[in-house]
Amino acid sequence: AAKAAGKNCWRVYDPSLDTGRDTRKRMERDLRAAIQRDEIGVVFQPIVSARDHQIVCVEALARWSHAEHGMIAPDIFIPIAEQSGLIIALGRSVLATSCSEALHWGVDVAVNLSPAQFWDRGLARTVRDVLDETGFPAHRLELEITESYLLRRPEAAREILEQLRAMGVRIALDDFGTGFASIGYLRRLSFDSIKIDKSFIAQAALRQKAADMARAIVAIGDALDLPVTAEGVETAEQAMIMRRAGCARLQGWLFGRPMPGAEMTAWLAEPHRAVG
Ligand code: C2E
Ligand code: MG
Ligand code: MG
Ligand code: MG
Repeated sequence: AAKAAGKNCWRVYDPSLDTGRDTRKRMERDLRAAIQRDEIGVVFQPIVSARDHQIVCVEALARWSHAEHGMIAPDIFIPIAEQSGLIIALGRSVLATSCSEALHWGVDVAVNLSPAQFWDRGLARTVRDVLDETGFPAHRLELEITESYLLRRPEAAREILEQLRAMGVRIALDDFGTGFASIGYLRRLSFDSIKIDKSFIAQAALRQKAADMARAIVAIGDALDLPVTAEGVETAEQAMIMRRAGCARLQGWLFGRPMPGAEMTAWLAEPHRAVG
């Protein structure tokens, strides 16, 4: 099936397909070269306030534009980067690009961290260095982490989170609802916000149960003083449901697709987008 898709389609490059090993090795080699040549780009997606739809933050999302295979999705290359250790260099480059591009936008920037980055002993130092190099204020940086990898070593995770928060950086718990986080654990580890996984938002307009779940997550957030962001909002109906559920922030194609920095600069310059 992969071959039938044609050799110009990036799907042939999916390492999970049976051509497996070679493909993976080749991809890892290409990825290493791409990082060295600065070919991993970053696109930015707006996150808006649910109250007035003003943009409050942009999420940085990595993109690899491969000379031969075209655009490769992060769901494919992030795991490769993660397993090969390349994620450390890649992550630093994404962070640096994000901070320097967002510097003059006047909005916060959210950057995703994968497990190997989170557990890397150099993380706090890297964040500190990038903030110093770019002049980006710590309080405008939000790091998005997922619960799945915190659970294994909650005490160690707590220390890392404290270190980052002591710098003034904020932490968002991404893809909430897909893992096994308990409320007690949410309280022990300090976060600054929660992002409801987009699978709930997709279902919320279709099934009452999903909408109820979203409301329940917001109630947990309220009890812990954590604002909740809904990700993957595609329709006005979903936006309305999430706003009514009490989400503080909304993100999704309805408000803006991920876009290159230059486009974001233009987008933010439109008068009605202007931030306070
Ligand atoms: P995520 O952090 O949960 O990011 C949200 C994903 O939802 C993004 O996919 C975004 O493009 C997509 N999305 C946003 N709005 C909508 C919508 O309205 N509808 C739908 N269907 N999708 C929407 P993307 O860019 O493909 O990234 C996938 C995942 O890859 C991210 O999920 C994140 O976990 C990871 N990732 C992306 N960039 C980086 C990075 O720089 N570092 C690390 N460690 N992981 C990254
Ligand atoms: Mg994210
Ligand atoms: Mg997410
Ligand atoms: Mg997600």
